[in-house]
Amino acid sequence: MTEATGRHIAVIGGGIMGVSAAEALLRDGHKVTMIEPGTFGGPQAASFGNGAFLSPASNTPVSMPGLWAKVPGYLREREGPLTIRWAHLPRLAPWLLRFLAAGWTEARVTRTAAALGALLDDAAGRHSALAARVGAPDLIRREGLIYLYRDRAAYEAEALAWRLRRDAGVRADLLEGEALAARVPGLSPDYRFGVLLHDGGHCTEPGAYVAAIADWCLAQGMSHVGARAIGLRTEGGHVRAVRTETGDVPCDGAVVTAGVHSSALVRACGDRVPMEAERGYHIELTEGAPDLPTPVMPQDLKVAITRTRTGLRVAGQVELASTSTAPDWRRADLLRRALLECFPGLASDPDALTVTRWQGNRPSPADGVPVIGPARVGGVTYAFGHGHFGLVAAPMTAALVADMVAGRAPAIDPAPFSVARFRRGGRTRRSPAHHTRATATAHGG
Ligand SMILES: Cc1cc2nc3c(=O)[nH]c(=O)nc-3n(C[C@H](O)[C@H](O)[C@H](O)COP(=O)(O)OP(=O)(O)OC[C@H]3O[C@@H](n4cnc5c(N)ncnc54)[C@H](O)[C@@H]3O)c2cc1C
Repeated sequence: MTEATGRHIAVIGGGIMGVSAAEALLRDGHKVTMIEPGTFGGPQAASFGNGAFLSPASNTPVSMPGLWAKVPGYLREREGPLTIRWAHLPRLAPWLLRFLAAGWTEARVTRTAAALGALLDDAAGRHSALAARVGAPDLIRREGLIYLYRDRAAYEAEALAWRLRRDAGVRADLLEGEALAARVPGLSPDYRFGVLLHDGGHCTEPGAYVAAIADWCLAQGMSHVGARAIGLRTEGGHVRAVRTETGDVPCDGAVVTAGVHSSALVRACGDRVPMEAERGYHIELTEGAPDLPTPVMPQDLKVAITRTRTGLRVAGQVELASTSTAPDWRRADLLRRALLECFPGLASDPDALTVTRWQGNRPSPADGVPVIGPARVGGVTYAFGHGHFGLVAAPMTAALVADMVAGRAPAIDPAPFSVARFRRGGRTRRSPAHHTRATATAHGG
């Protein structure tokens, strides 16, 4: 054990990001305490209900050049893949403007895609290795992924995105006509074009995956505090304890992995990240679900359709509204409609399908780039804000966190992920943590 290892690290939030970080920290010889109020792998986390895609093509941001022109439509249109709730628009406007600005030019999205591409390097392979290490190899499958288009013209309309993916090393084969129909049994003939990503994979049950990693960590000696973190106790600008609803957890370092709820802890560290929830939904057809060897994503409907261990999952929708707003289950109905549009043979009576449904929050910084790296408070490391690609990016993020905690050279360039990008002029301000002895409280979240 080197001097840098063997410390006591508190991990705040036990979704896929938290448990992956905990696993990497335990392997480095640290003592780990996980602070998570919910069940590991439970529906409170985005990590439970995602589309289960492990896609190397997730390096392209949602905000691409020209998106701004579609915003008026998103405000009017109630049935599209992206919707903005009118009542929340005034509060969301600053975030939305930054979000659109991040995709304003080709140069900006090229930079973002390169940074995210590094974070997704060999992601499916890294997940396979992680699943094997925690004794659950069957939870990760590497049978590729198919992005679907109605025709070649629709694919060519997304030329910029595919160029950015190729530049990041994504290998893709084009499938047309019979070749596509043979790979995707039951697919509607309206989809005549597909892109097969050989290096893609999927998780067969995302919630169970989080639980399996957590179980392994607990078996390795990780402690679990079943409470919400509400702030930090610092001394000389360095974290000494995480404050929770049930008392302080003393520590030498802390990792913030609380997904969309990280903002309050970030403020407690004296930092600021413009982050909102891109709310999403899933439905799962639990009875009579057909096999789907390779998961598919129809690009016009913007849904991920994946066979999980519990059913046929359809995940998608971006709804901009605050996290405390009740789910709008009409959005889940749109997912059901999307499923039948792709696989029309599934049911003669769509209302007879037995489905479960879920709503969750993608943690989305305005610039579409996650926040990974040191906080203003010494000893605190951020790892949140992975938006649409938090599952696939978890192992590399965990490796970066472990490298930073150990003081090793990081596996990839961490600069694009630094919280410093949100500081005015990159300058550091005095934070509560710089008092000799201080407590900082997380408000809201
Ligand atoms: C509909 C949908 C589809 C998606 N599809 C995909 C996909 O196919 N592939 C992909 O890679 N990604 C996908 N994503 C994104 C992915 O699910 C998320 O980016 C990822 O799960 C975020 O993980 P996380 O651990 O950061 O946050 P979460 O999974 O949300 O976990 C955060 C945890 O922190 C805990 N917490 C919150 N506040 C506190 C506190 N104060 N103290 C302690 N603990 C706290 C919560 O209880 C929770 O368990 C999808 C997301 C959605 C919503």
